[in-house]
Formats: sequence, C-alpha cells, structure tokens
Amino acid sequence: MRFASLGSGSRGNATLVQAGSTTLLIDCGFGLADTRRRLGRLGLELSDLTAILLTHEHGDHVAGVGPVARAGGMPVWATPGTLAALAPQVGELPHVRTINCHAPWEIGDLSITPFPVPHDGRESCQYLLSDGARRFAAVTDLGHTTAHMAALLGGCEGLLFECNHDRDLLLGGPYPPSLKRRVDGYLGHLSNAAAAAFIGGLDCRRLQHFVAAHLSEQNNRPELAQAAMAGALGCGADWIAVADQDLGIDWCELA
Ligand SMILES: [Zn+2]
Ligand SMILES: [Zn+2]
Repeated sequence: MRFASLGSGSRGNATLVQAGSTTLLIDCGFGLADTRRRLGRLGLELSDLTAILLTHEHGDHVAGVGPVARAGGMPVWATPGTLAALAPQVGELPHVRTINCHAPWEIGDLSITPFPVPHDGRESCQYLLSDGARRFAAVTDLGHTTAHMAALLGGCEGLLFECNHDRDLLLGGPYPPSLKRRVDGYLGHLSNAAAAAFIGGLDCRRLQHFVAAHLSEQNNRPELAQAAMAGALGCGADWIAVADQDLGIDWCELA
C-alpha cells in the first residue's frame, strides 16, 4: 500500500492511495491537464484511477472533478450533502455513488472508513483507508479535532494531516477579520498547534510516514509545521514531510 499527494493547499488538493490493482484519488482540485501532468510525475495516467472520493464541495477539492471524471469515466463517491452542494460549473458526473459518512465500504483492494469532520462544507468527511494489513488516513479541512477521530486514527501506518496555519501569523497577518475568524473558527482549519495537540495524544507507534498538508502559503511556513509536529511525535523535524502546493509529495510506501 502506498500514498502520494498531487499537491496540497488552498489552490488545489488531491491525494492518491494505491493497493493491489486499486488506485483511488481523494479530491480533485486541479484541472484536467494539470491532473494528468501531476499523475504523470507519479508514473500514472488517468486510466489508472479506479475511482474518485470527494471530501467536500470547496473549490480547492473539486475544481477539476467534472472534467477529470468525464474524461476518465471513473465513478465519483461523496456524501449526499457534498453532491447537493457541488457548484453548477462542476457539471454532469458520469457515475455518481452516494456514501453514508458513518458506514465503511470497499472499492477493489481497499476498504474505506469515512468519518465526519467539523468544517464549513455541507456534509464534510475525511477518509481512513486500509488494504487489510496497513492503514492510512488523509485528514484536512477541519476546524477542530473530535473524539471520534481520536478513536479511529490511532495505530495508522501513514497520516497526511492538516497543518493549515500558525495562529500568530494568521491573527497578525493581512487577512480581513472575517476571513481570520473563518479560518480560526470552529468550522475552519487546523492550526499547527491544534494538529500537534491531537497527534501528540494519538497512538503513533506504527507510524511510518507523516505528511503535513494544506499549509497556508500566507499564514504558515513549512519549518513551523515541521517543528510543531516533530515536537508532538518526538522525532527530528526533517522526518516530517510537507505536501507542497505545486509538487505535492512523492509516493510514500507503507511496509
Ligand atoms: Zn481545502
Ligand atoms: Zn474546505
């Protein structure tokens, strides 16, 4: 089992998870040509994608899902709320599958456990995936962590986890007050400190890869996220990978 990021941040997000003959794309925040180019960097083509899972309807997660799903013909899985809230410009999706964000299901060689997260999407969820032996979770776009997440995510081999902002940079920065309140709020995004507090309390003894994701270009710096997470995990800062907006992150193998 392995995972990678095509890119992460407020200008687009997409995460790949692969096991056996199954390759899933979580979110599709890049246009068709850009998605093809980013897949190519990881040795994949559009036809390699088994399905697309959506976490919520915000543009940085769905901007490319219409053209990509129409070109690739793969099914798109999402909650009823996310599907209802998709912008009209997403257009027709050829194969839509509705999920219950409290009910696990399987696609090919991967079992998928969705879980709701507090965010200002209509019915946001994030995903824990397993090939039966290893577990990986991609967790971004949440205003705060939950007890349900803590119960679910302990013991993962791989985590891609939101470190959106440094709270001092956000509150002292140039965003208008309303946007600061949104990002910092109950349904906004996780700060480095909030992510570190959650990860510090999680069973991470099996963790092989930790990737900090959805970093704000304005209100965060990779070294701040790395320092916060290294403190939480008791590791060196250079062990903490950071998913880049343009370059994403290369394949991380889970042994
Ligand atoms: Zn986002
Ligand atoms: Zn969002």
